This record gives sequence, structure tokens and C-alpha cells, in this order.
Amino acid sequence: MSEDSTATVRDVVIVGSGVAGLSAAVYAARADLDPLVLEGPEPGGQLTLTTDVENYLGFPEGVGGMELIQRGKAQAERFGADFRHAAVEDATLEDRPFELELANGDSVRTRALIVATGASARWVGADGEDELMGYGVSTCATCDGAFHRGDDVLVIGGGDSAMEEALFLAKFADSVTVVHRRDELRASDIMAERARDHEKIAVRWNAELLAIHGSREDGVTGATLGSHPDGHPTEKLAGSAAPEAATEVDRETVDVGGIFYGVGHVPNTDFLEDTAVELADSGHLETREGMTTETAVEGVFGAGDVMDPDYRQAVTSAGTGSMAALDAEAWLDAESTRSEPQSADPAPSV
Ligand SMILES: Cc1cc2nc3c(=O)[nH]c(=O)nc-3n(C[C@H](O)[C@H](O)[C@H](O)COP(=O)(O)OP(=O)(O)OC[C@H]3O[C@@H](n4cnc5c(N)ncnc54)[C@H](O)[C@@H]3O)c2cc1C
Repeated sequence: MSEDSTATVRDVVIVGSGVAGLSAAVYAARADLDPLVLEGPEPGGQLTLTTDVENYLGFPEGVGGMELIQRGKAQAERFGADFRHAAVEDATLEDRPFELELANGDSVRTRALIVATGASARWVGADGEDELMGYGVSTCATCDGAFHRGDDVLVIGGGDSAMEEALFLAKFADSVTVVHRRDELRASDIMAERARDHEKIAVRWNAELLAIHGSREDGVTGATLGSHPDGHPTEKLAGSAAPEAATEVDRETVDVGGIFYGVGHVPNTDFLEDTAVELADSGHLETREGMTTETAVEGVFGAGDVMDPDYRQAVTSAGTGSMAALDAEAWLDAESTRSEPQSADPAPSV
């Protein structure tokens, strides 16, 4: 493993350059901690996938996701944060300074570590989703639901996340159709009942989203759904079942103005799996109870969607990012006090 050429031991390394990482970088840089931000595979994070952000404080007319990120990065750089286009593959956290192995073979050493690697929403693999994600296809009803007043929309999934998305969207949309590939929901009874009882919500059983229609200019205009009496139509089309099953998949094109994925999120915590940092069953980073970003490993802090399975908002990520930097600063201060040589016995009084 070759040594990182830019620094021997950093005070703070921030892994991730989404809102949480940028907010942590602003605070850490202003505290003279000279932070290094490792931008990861998606510089700027999830917000770069969206067009308008209308619920971030301070932008009454809304702001583009990319613009918000560029402004955040410029703000962090102004105070001296360094950015490096690199992803962390492995972390050694037993000894301090911590050591991070990067995908390009370099390593970085740091006294304190802020993990802000976010959580990637699962996509379903439908034709057109790459082009239209952020242009009528979304993974966040709280974020984008209000753009769909009066639309007919689809929600893909059958678990609690999908029910939450559907119930939220029903406040704005004319109709919400939950597209589920089985003939019963996986959601908890209470969530399933709430969705089933809602007059605007219908469920399309044994069905899957095959293709999304529209353009970046006009947004989503329609979708092709496949259905099969036994469910899992895409599996049948892929030929994993008996080949004749593929011919039994019915296809139908429906007019819709928005499509929301509610098939879960995967926190980006693979590189922490062999460390003492605690991860929840969902893979989210566990932080200690109370208002703190401390993890089970002293000196390692978590911020943003990677430690938050519930709120998943830009503003909450910025909030926990700032908390992580403040927690790291306080911890580094305490560490340096602990490591200062103790003074000899107090001078005798005269
Ligand atoms: C389509 C869409 C629209 C949205 N709209 C809104 C909205 O209108 N309002 C709102 O409040 N929220 C919105 N959100 C949610 C918001 O984007 C997230 O809550 C927020 O981006 C989370 O920030 P984060 O910094 O925690 O993580 P992310 O934005 O996910 O950033 C994670 C960062 O970690 C990096 N990374 C990952 N793995 C590694 C690794 N191994 N090594 C190094 N770096 C790594 C990535 O490259 C990335 O830079 C939207 C999300 C989506 C997907």
C-alpha cells in the first residue's frame, strides 16, 4: 500500500462529499482542522441526481441540487478544505491514527474520521430510469411529492417504504397506484391497512415496472407495466423460470406523471464491515444514543443518510454533518489534552 502523498497524518478525514460531508468540511475547515474530503464514486452525492430542491432553508425560490452542492463545496474550499476524487475500500480502525485504504491503492492516515457515505436508493432496472431519475422518477416522496399535484403516479414496491411513499403522495396526487410484484404486501399490517383504506391508493398486484416513458424536457409521461398471474414478471422475462412463462407476461402502457421507487436504501458501509464500528441489520451506521454522532469506535463519527434510516433529507444531513465536525473537534481537543505531558508536582507554597 503506497502512502498518501498529500499528508502523513490528517487531523480529520471526511469520507463522502454529499451534503453531510460538505457541511462537516465547512465546520472542520473553519475550526482549522485542515480536513481532507474523499469524494467517493459520486462526487456531490444524491442531490446531484435531482433538479429542484424546494425544502432547503434559505432558498425561497428553490435551488438546483447540483448548484446547492457546488456552492457547498466552494464554501468548504474557501475555508481550506482539501478535496480528493477517491473512494475508500478498507479501513483499519484498531489503532490510531486510523488508516484508510483507497481504491487506487493509496492510503490515508487520520486522527479523526467522519463517515458521510450516504445510502444509495435501490433502483429497479426499468428501461429509461437512468435518463429520467430526477426528471419525474424519484426515490423520495417527501422531497419531490409536491411537484406532482394533480398527477397520477406510481409507487414501486410493497414494503413499509413503499407504503410511506404512497401515503405521502396521496396528499398531492390525483391517484397513487402501488405496483407490487407479488400478490400480498410485505409491509407491516398497520402500514398496509392505512394504504389499502386510502381512497386515492390502489394496488396493482403481480406487476412490475418494465419501462418509463418521457423526456428530460417533459418529465415522465407514462410507463409500461408487465404482469403475470404468479407475479415476478421480470424474472419470467429474464428466462429464469420456464421459457413459456415469459410469453404469459402481459404488458400494458399507462399514462402517469411521476414514478416513485420505494424499494429501500443500501447504506454505503461495506468498508466498515470488518471494523468495530457497529452497523444495524440494515447496514446503517449506529451512533450512540442522544444528540451525538459518535460511533462505537472513539474518534469515528457518522453523519447524514449513512446513519439515518428515517429522515433522509438534505437539511438533516447538513445538520448531522455539522454535528460530526463539532464532535470530532471536541474529541481531538480532549485527546491532545490527555496526551500532553503531565506537569510535575505543584510547586510548594511559600
Ligand atoms: C432524486 C433525489 C431527490 C432528492 N430531493 C431532495 C430534496 O428535494 N430535498 C431534500 O432535503 N432531500 C432530497 N433528497 C435526499 C438527499 O439527497 C439526501 O438526504 C442527502 O443527499 C444525503 O446526504 P449525504 O451526504 O448523507 O449522502 P449522499 O448525498 O448519498 O452522499 C454520499 C457521498 O458518499 C460518497 N461515498 C460513498 N461511498 C464511498 C466510499 N466508499 N468512499 C468514499 N466516498 C464514498 C459518495 O461519493 C457521495 O459523495 C433527494 C434524493 C434523491 C435521490
